[in-house]
Amino acid sequence: MRSLRSVLALVLGAAIAISCAAQATNSVGVPAKTTDDAQALKSLAALHPIDTHVHVFKTDTAFQEMLEGLNLKLLNILVMDDTHPYRKALQRQVDDALALVKASRGHVALCTTFDPYKFDGPSFTADAIQQIDRDFAAGAVAVKIWKNIGMEIKDRNGKFIFADDAKFEPIYKDIEVHGKTLLSHQAEPDVAWGPPDSSDPSWSYYQENPQWYVGDKPGFPTKQTILEARDHILADNPQLRMVGVHLGSMERDLDNISRHLDKYPNFAIDMAARMDYLMLTPPEKVRAFLIKYQDRVLYGTDLDLLADANVTETLQEWRSTYARDWKFLATDETFSFEGKPVHGLNLPKAVLDKLYRGNAIRWIPGL
Ligand SMILES: [Zn+2]
Repeated sequence: MRSLRSVLALVLGAAIAISCAAQATNSVGVPAKTTDDAQALKSLAALHPIDTHVHVFKTDTAFQEMLEGLNLKLLNILVMDDTHPYRKALQRQVDDALALVKASRGHVALCTTFDPYKFDGPSFTADAIQQIDRDFAAGAVAVKIWKNIGMEIKDRNGKFIFADDAKFEPIYKDIEVHGKTLLSHQAEPDVAWGPPDSSDPSWSYYQENPQWYVGDKPGFPTKQTILEARDHILADNPQLRMVGVHLGSMERDLDNISRHLDKYPNFAIDMAARMDYLMLTPPEKVRAFLIKYQDRVLYGTDLDLLADANVTETLQEWRSTYARDWKFLATDETFSFEGKPVHGLNLPKAVLDKLYRGNAIRWIPGL
């Protein structure tokens, strides 16, 4: 039972809190309250959020507990990468990912892929279709194409292959016929084609992954060429749903994203790994964009859990990313991100519901 003193302390504390809150909003017009990470995550969990862009390579109890605690569902995306010892073979990735889905008690879904490095093989298209159909039957809800198409893989004549190649077209048709969704990561941020720029949020990535920096590689396809190939898929397959991940690789140009969304009703974007570009854009512009296109933007992070990861540290990174994104999208607070002040967008609840859940379900049925 509570003592009289503790009741008095509670009453007094509440009175002080009320008067402080009143004072904070009355005097300077800027709310003095700040949301700590635990509060942010609690508010996020109430929406039953879906992160439509992660890469998880490990089944782990603490990770599963985090998913359950946050009411969080993930779309786990496979990628073929011939420079990576694990990612260069597909079937083991699929098997591991399906085991993770099964162990997740409904918290993880699979976005499969096909092997574009086999492009020049005689039965490439048929083999790719057979394999994604098998993955659909096992529960996969989407298919990913990656930046290696347009930026890495060459045909037998030594020419870069592009996403609108005739060999890919039957694969897109197959995805459409099955009512699944194509996730497209085509090209890279502008800085990959430009001069070195340490102020760009992606610059450190190219220092660590110089194979994807093409500003010093003459004769390389332009970003425009690669994205136009992506756009041809949209135009040629109006019934195919496509999510252009990473803001559709138009991270510095919300007007260009708007033009694409207006032109292609079958196109949506995710925010994965590009939230920092949105944080650098004037907040009133980002807010107006997200309200206008509230049915076309999916929340995603590009967070990963690698097989050899330190799970405790990785989970801390996941939590702080979710908390930071929540403060940016959902609150009107000003907080510091990488030394710069960021103003929260304070989006309406109905818009947050769509970004964090509703759009994922509509654009990627099966989630
Ligand atoms: Zn990714």
